[in-house]
Amino acid sequence: MLHVAVVGSGPSGCYTAQSLVQQDPDVVVDVLDRLPCPYGLVRYGVAPDHEKIKSLQNNLRTVLEHDRVRFLGGVQVGPGGVPAARLRELYHAVVYCVGAATDRHLGIPGENLPGSWSATEFVSWYSAHPDAVDDGFVRGAHSAVVIGVGNVAVDVTRMLARGTAELTPTDMPQAALTALAGSRVTDISMVGRRGPSQARFTTKELRELGTLPDTEVTVDPAELGRDPAYVDTSGLPAPQRRNVEVLHGWAESPPQDSRHHIRLRFFLRPVELLAAAGRVGAVRFERTEPDGQGGVKGTGHYEDVEAQLVLRSVGYRGVPLEGLPFDPATGTVPNLAGRVVREGLVAPGEYVAGWIKRGPTGVIGTNRPCAKETVTSLLEDASVLVQRELRADPFTALRAEGIEPVEWTGWQAIERAEAELGASLGRGVVKLPDWQSLMTAAHGTTV
Ligand code: NAP
Repeated sequence: MLHVAVVGSGPSGCYTAQSLVQQDPDVVVDVLDRLPCPYGLVRYGVAPDHEKIKSLQNNLRTVLEHDRVRFLGGVQVGPGGVPAARLRELYHAVVYCVGAATDRHLGIPGENLPGSWSATEFVSWYSAHPDAVDDGFVRGAHSAVVIGVGNVAVDVTRMLARGTAELTPTDMPQAALTALAGSRVTDISMVGRRGPSQARFTTKELRELGTLPDTEVTVDPAELGRDPAYVDTSGLPAPQRRNVEVLHGWAESPPQDSRHHIRLRFFLRPVELLAAAGRVGAVRFERTEPDGQGGVKGTGHYEDVEAQLVLRSVGYRGVPLEGLPFDPATGTVPNLAGRVVREGLVAPGEYVAGWIKRGPTGVIGTNRPCAKETVTSLLEDASVLVQRELRADPFTALRAEGIEPVEWTGWQAIERAEAELGASLGRGVVKLPDWQSLMTAAHGTTV
């Protein structure tokens, strides 16, 4: 049998495991995750109100319950855990599916003022990630600025505008629900540095903003009109044209009297976060204009947009992995069809899939063909890899080295505890938000 370790149990890790066992009956797979819970960004990134996308967990579950796949949670690979070199000894091959673990920075003054967070910090908090901190995101704020116009920006904007009735049925942790239910943030500006035809959000996600109860979405027609592709959409690909049509509809809509107001702004690039009363008070933007080559240039005109809460939603970024090469320009591991490349040479037995392979783009389904490509490369190498005799069952070896993985039964115990917590609160499933409660549920003991 070929023993493969997949590091990361998000969509790319699960699709890699699935592809391996589907394509080869002589493969067994351990899916390792540093968290005791599987599913990666499906559990800790997909917004709680996107139940349909979250239900993808059911597909990923069938992969992790396959009889040749084992889930080993709570196993850190790298510093403080299992060294990458040790993992290579324990398995014939290792596939890193660790995603893009951090966020990009703006690199402007005031970026780290109190009240300014990366969107990923906010998402982690309302998704109950055990490393998230409750930093009182919405406390004392009535205006918010979301920087960036990708799907994560749309997610956090929508979550800020959702009311208690819509949030209560979700699995968001109780503390986040209480905070968002009491939020006084009524004015949310989502701001793009380029034009409407260059926004990264998808039309389905954009349209959803217009369906939020008691929420008005406005777009300034003059701002849209700065984009030549808005004025003449004939050259635009269909997805961008649909975005522009939705924005056009909002620009023409009469004003409403709603509790929440979402303003979609364009051609404004952030240059500084301004302080007021010891925290962020506004974002200073420079007005931009198209440079004729798909980018923008500054105009020397500035606008301050009031905000006591700033969410920087400018994309994720991969982080270097111990013992693996890394391309800082792209935030990815250099690879050839998923095979890790070291100093121009393919490293046998080491592979990547998902965002750490191709960068943080695409929807969940994009990971399926990406994983398949990597698995094809790995199975081409299998006849060579399998010649190395493994000394022991990797699981037994890990335990002998003091690592106590959370097995599938441990995860199922977490699921039961979350259902019980929800029932006790008169809600559906409610996520456990911290390490202590997760590990207590998984192992039946306190940590
Ligand atoms: P993204 O799609 O790459 O969008 C990043 C946004 O930040 C862009 O508008 C970008 O503008 C802007 N930006 C980057 N640097 C900036 C700077 N220095 N100043 C101002 N703006 C800046 O990233 P994302 O929203 O984090 O999404 C990541 C991936 O996850 C995407 O593939 C997305 O579709 C996916 N996702 C999907 C869903 C869903 O399907 N529901 C939900 C969440 C995420 P420029 O274009 O000008 O660079």
